[in-house]
Amino acid sequence: MAKLSIDLKAGKLKDERDVIVGIDLGTTNSLVAYMVNGQAVAVKDAAGKSTLVPSVVHFNADQEVLVGDAAKEKLITDPAHTIYSVKRLMGKSFGDISNFEQYFGYKIIDEDTESLVKIRVADRFFTPIELSAEILKELKRRIEGVLQAPVSKAVITVPAYFNDAQRQATRDAGKLAGLDVLRIVNEPTAASLAYGIGLDQEAEGQKIAVYDLGGGTFDISILSIENGIFEVLSTNGDTFLGGDDFDRAIIDHWLAVNDIPASRIQKDKHLGQTIRLEAERAKKALSTADHYTGSLDDWQITLSREQFETLVTPLVDRTIVACNQALADAGLATSAVDHVVMVGGSTRMPLVKQRVAKCFGREVNAQLNPDEVVALGAAIQADILAGNQQDILLLDITPLSLGIETVGGLMDVIVPRNSKVPAKVGRQYTTSVDGQTNLKIAVYQGERDLVEHNRKLGEFVLRGIPPMPAGLPKIEIHFYLDADGILKVKATELRSNVATEIEIRSQYGISEEDMARMLIDSIQNAQSDMATRALLEARNEANNILLATTKFLVQNKSWLAAAASAEISRLAEELRQATAATDKDAINKAMETLNEYARPLAQDALEKNIAQAMKGEKV
Ligand code: AMP
Repeated sequence: MAKLSIDLKAGKLKDERDVIVGIDLGTTNSLVAYMVNGQAVAVKDAAGKSTLVPSVVHFNADQEVLVGDAAKEKLITDPAHTIYSVKRLMGKSFGDISNFEQYFGYKIIDEDTESLVKIRVADRFFTPIELSAEILKELKRRIEGVLQAPVSKAVITVPAYFNDAQRQATRDAGKLAGLDVLRIVNEPTAASLAYGIGLDQEAEGQKIAVYDLGGGTFDISILSIENGIFEVLSTNGDTFLGGDDFDRAIIDHWLAVNDIPASRIQKDKHLGQTIRLEAERAKKALSTADHYTGSLDDWQITLSREQFETLVTPLVDRTIVACNQALADAGLATSAVDHVVMVGGSTRMPLVKQRVAKCFGREVNAQLNPDEVVALGAAIQADILAGNQQDILLLDITPLSLGIETVGGLMDVIVPRNSKVPAKVGRQYTTSVDGQTNLKIAVYQGERDLVEHNRKLGEFVLRGIPPMPAGLPKIEIHFYLDADGILKVKATELRSNVATEIEIRSQYGISEEDMARMLIDSIQNAQSDMATRALLEARNEANNILLATTKFLVQNKSWLAAAASAEISRLAEELRQATAATDKDAINKAMETLNEYARPLAQDALEKNIAQAMKGEKV
């Protein structure tokens, strides 16, 4: 299966092996790497300078897209139309991110705390998947420019702590960019592979610590190699700790020694930007030099390595605490770690290398460019999948995604294609109608967003769910896929323990050509499939809001002002009309308008209910 290759343009199967690229889709920067003569190399930009593509997307007034350095410049001149750090939003609902929304300069939409976030740019709404796809398209363009050939397959890395939804979102972004994502690989695993760790027999049982300190985030992962597979034993870190904080420590120091109030750089944006760049320059210089002297107006801009290290020791201390915590969570002593791998631009700092080496009691692996190791390792993983590294065992994988039908005929993938088998995956669902006692579960195989384009494997009904209001039952659906491709699907209502299951032979009656065809179709139709999915999801969300609005008007009739009630009804009617049409942006906009108007009233209703409950009245 793994040797089957597909010519996406021609829609045909090919014999020869084509290039599979490795992609590090990062929070601040992304990059793509590939193998040349058995060696992983990162792709440089057109000027041949940097391998990094800033993970920034800008939309101009004509909705044209800029990605990378050109988009990064717009962060200052046009922040409302420039999206950065989109990786922080992948697979997240608004509820997940509400406590750090203030860090984003652009507009994140919060209709409903459970649905996935959307980003508003002028009158259009984008998902993090669509925005990440723009970054991936830019990487694809770059590598195609270098190779002078189309590239259609990739391995993409994600943080070890990414959950199913975030991994699926990353796969979808690849698909939307025209890439067949052969595997999603953990970043620490890729970094280890870049150092050749895990590529030989002796690796069995070895423990690896991967320390990743970038511009804005810090991650520590402890891995173990078991049966030739990298298992994540524990992860720890801080999503808001990185090189930017080191720069800030220098700025604070310079302001203090020159007696400049911090408010001055807050008011003077230009000065703030200049001093920040100067601080970063000093920090980088001090990774090799003992002393830095710069100039900024008539201020004293000097710093010694010793002073700098004193300033940032508390920050480095925090990373060491996290390392110890990760080790404790993995149940390991520092002496049990066989390799320490350094990732991220900030690990160039000598103090960081020393402290980490001391913590683990061994030399760290820091010879490779710490900005590139993850992409290089992804390219090595791609090479393994291409079958070019003969001595490495390829694990059995499932060739097509498996999932179930959800509201609106959408495919909800439970076991993504290329997952290792045997696999056991579970997910929770609920009912959409009050008092629902039966739930039909239809199982499908394939890569398309609508089940009607996929292959139906079977269906069954979970009966005897005790009648409850919609949304209350907890129905867990488990997929167990064994190494022979036999799929067992089990549904259990957790409150009552009613359960049913079926067994399906997922590979039965399907040829390799059929599978390849399904894959080609999914990539060729990715754009329209995802648009249909977005429209159906917007409609589902709108219908939920309309139901909630009707309930709200009835329950709060006694105190709602007639004018407010009429306005809510009018906005609800507008939403109903938008929902009947096919413009998802119009639906999203109508939802946002209704929500914005109703939010303070819903808050009032909540307070009234609480007050009544305190008086002992039934609400
Ligand atoms: P990353 O997110 O991995 O690209 O890391 C970028 C961070 O690494 C930024 O905060 C940079 O300032 C920092 N960085 C890059 N080069 C150096 C260096 N030579 N010494 C210290 N920090 C550096």
